[in-house]
Amino acid sequence: MTDLPQITHKRACHLCEAICGLDIVTQGDQILSIKGDKDDPLSRGHICPKAIALQDLHEDPDRIKKPIKRVDGEWVEIPWEQAFSEIAERVAALQGEHGNDSLAVYAGNPNVHNYGNLTHGKLLRKALQTKSNFSATSLDQLPHHFV
Ligand code: SF4
Repeated sequence: MTDLPQITHKRACHLCEAICGLDIVTQGDQILSIKGDKDDPLSRGHICPKAIALQDLHEDPDRIKKPIKRVDGEWVEIPWEQAFSEIAERVAALQGEHGNDSLAVYAGNPNVHNYGNLTHGKLLRKALQTKSNFSATSLDQLPHHFV
């Protein structure tokens, strides 16, 4: 492991709209440090604790990387094809029985920086034809303004 070179990756924190610049030093699969990128023209080396905690997210042994399904009270991994197919069947059945708006979509902040959401999120929401759309704004900020 120690023979592997240390590499500094210039990245941007994707956890909120500030998009602070990061220097992430890795060695092989290991993250050695996460610091603010002093060369970033906007954040200029400043970051908040959430960016440092990205390492905890990355290394969390409980992080879900594959679809899981509860079978007889136990969580078991299932293939992606099975997950998509079962979800599609159940979404169609739910909307068929209770109407399109019975299905709600919630999109949190990091979603804004997710390429999959950028390219396919709008199409998915259009296909679902639900008016029940929620976000960090609708759940956190607008009620605060209202109060
Ligand atoms: S470091 Fe903190 S403030 Fe900067 S983008 Fe990440 S979460 Fe936002």
